[in-house]
Amino acid sequence: MKIVDIFKKKDFLLSFEFFPPKNSESEHVLHETVGALKRFAPDFVSITYGAGGSTRDKTLQWTLDLMEDGLEVMMHLTCIASSQDEITRIVHTLKSSGIENILALRGDAPPDCPPPGPLCHASDLVAYLRELDGFFSIGVAGYPEGHPEAASLEEDITFLKKKVDAGAEFILTQLFFDNRYFFDFEERVRAAGINVPIIPGIMPIINPGQVKKFTQMCGATVPVGVLSRMEGKNPGETLRIGVDYAIGQCGELIKAGVSGLHFYTLNRNQATGLILDGLKDFSPIRKRTG
Ligand SMILES: Cc1cc2nc3c(=O)[nH]c(=O)nc-3n(C[C@H](O)[C@H](O)[C@H](O)COP(=O)(O)OP(=O)(O)OC[C@H]3O[C@@H](n4cnc5c(N)ncnc54)[C@H](O)[C@@H]3O)c2cc1C
Repeated sequence: MKIVDIFKKKDFLLSFEFFPPKNSESEHVLHETVGALKRFAPDFVSITYGAGGSTRDKTLQWTLDLMEDGLEVMMHLTCIASSQDEITRIVHTLKSSGIENILALRGDAPPDCPPPGPLCHASDLVAYLRELDGFFSIGVAGYPEGHPEAASLEEDITFLKKKVDAGAEFILTQLFFDNRYFFDFEERVRAAGINVPIIPGIMPIINPGQVKKFTQMCGATVPVGVLSRMEGKNPGETLRIGVDYAIGQCGELIKAGVSGLHFYTLNRNQATGLILDGLKDFSPIRKRTG
């Protein structure tokens, strides 16, 4: 089902993001993760797409496999290092396979990236997808703390509006750890006249090193307080601190009436599962687990 149509029936969507595994051992881990997280009845799952190209076939394969497994799947698609012909081919394959949802992204240029063609920005990709075929439900990325390349949050939101005006129907946000960034972003987005649902992106903090790496890459503010509480703790204690933090963060978002939660699972189920178990008193989660 198209995500835009799921939103017509529900006001809260739960989703999990995965990346295509690189070898048979990590494929096994992802199968286990998907199996374990199914009990939360996700409205959709999504599979990332390598802007650099190396894992693209795997993205398509996993998209189809998870659909076969009975899940609603959204495939991520980037335009920065792709020709219009490549995009057109992928879109035809998705449509003929019954995939109805695409997250339209620019991606980050790989080192050997050819000069940008007509699809330079995610808004160009959204417009091209709409021009090619009105079939898909299209989502785009939003950045509560601003995209690292943007001159300002205001400018970034101007370009976000361009993506929505081109035909995007919902926004998934970059990870953030302090809800104040999300609430401020949401207010600015609405003030800019963007009215589509915004789903906050949540990354469980289970490994301080990993969080530092991700925040450095995407420009999100490091949750210094949580990381300092994790110092000197064993992995079990570290997990508990990260899970408790995320339960508090997600609980506040749900109370504020957000349109859903999108978990960056990193292909693991333990932390996401514990967080959702910890949120079972909130009706949008309780309803799923019975
Ligand atoms: C939920 C989510 C999922 C993601 N999944 C993937 C994935 O699967 N694969 C992957 O490679 N990456 C992924 N990314 C990362 C993303 O590709 C990078 O953040 C990338 O740098 C920007 O992509 P975008 O679609 O936001 O680009 P855009 O919306 O094009 O924005 C990129 C930058 O250009 C600026 N800009 C936008 N339009 C214009 C314009 N018309 N003129 C001038 N400047 C403009 C923006 O302000 C911003 O600074 C994901 C990010 C998120 C939040």
